[in-house]
Amino acid sequence: MARRKIVAGNWKMNKTPSEAVALVEELKPLVASDDVDVVFCVPAIDIIPVAEAVKGTNIQVGAENMYFEEKGAYTGEISPAMLVDAGVKYVVLGHSERREYFAETDATVNKKVLKAFEHGITPIMCCGETLEQREQGVTMDFIRQQVKIGLQNVTADQAKTMVIAYEPIWAIGTGKTATTEQAQEVCAGIRACIAEVYDEATAEAIRIQYGGSVNAATAPELFAQADIDGGLVGGAALKPDFGKIVNYK
Ligand code: PEP
Repeated sequence: MARRKIVAGNWKMNKTPSEAVALVEELKPLVASDDVDVVFCVPAIDIIPVAEAVKGTNIQVGAENMYFEEKGAYTGEISPAMLVDAGVKYVVLGHSERREYFAETDATVNKKVLKAFEHGITPIMCCGETLEQREQGVTMDFIRQQVKIGLQNVTADQAKTMVIAYEPIWAIGTGKTATTEQAQEVCAGIRACIAEVYDEATAEAIRIQYGGSVNAATAPELFAQADIDGGLVGGAALKPDFGKIVNYK
């Protein structure tokens, strides 16, 4: 069975609530699609107005992070129940910026992945190597570790429904897209890792995105690859280009 493509925008720390609504209104007609799942992952404070603004469209709302506890004395954090109540369906977990600036580890990502599943939120779990790791030839070793730890105690049935985003750190926000061959090779490697940890059926079902300076020009070839099931898009998600990326065919 062919996997349905999923294109998610990661807005990062951009757009105030009123700017967010204006951007949704601009993008709404451009991202209409019957074949691709479209997700806007937006800053926490934008979630409620964006969820309201996308009502009746094909756009689903995602968060950019989430805490792994239910509730309590965790000042500044957002719980899974808060996200669900606000209309969130997806959550980006373990983005390299969160790993770099906010001390996220494979172990905390794993706790968050498990908690997201408990609440029926689909995780978009990010992984990806540094330029140094790529040059040292340890890309796949590093990513396999991120994926295996991130998925500890996740069942095959849960894994089948989730999304993994392969985002080489050297390609994020740099304008340097991985070549199609590099992106396909690693996404195939991630799928092989899933087959080892679970089974072929799980590997066939899980959706693997490429992320890293995806734009309207690079999306068609990237998304045509056998193991690339769409993209996680940063910079271009804030522009009309995002509509072209969704409708890449
Ligand atoms: C991202 O933030 O996940 C990302 C891929 O950013 P960009 O598309 O800007 O490289």
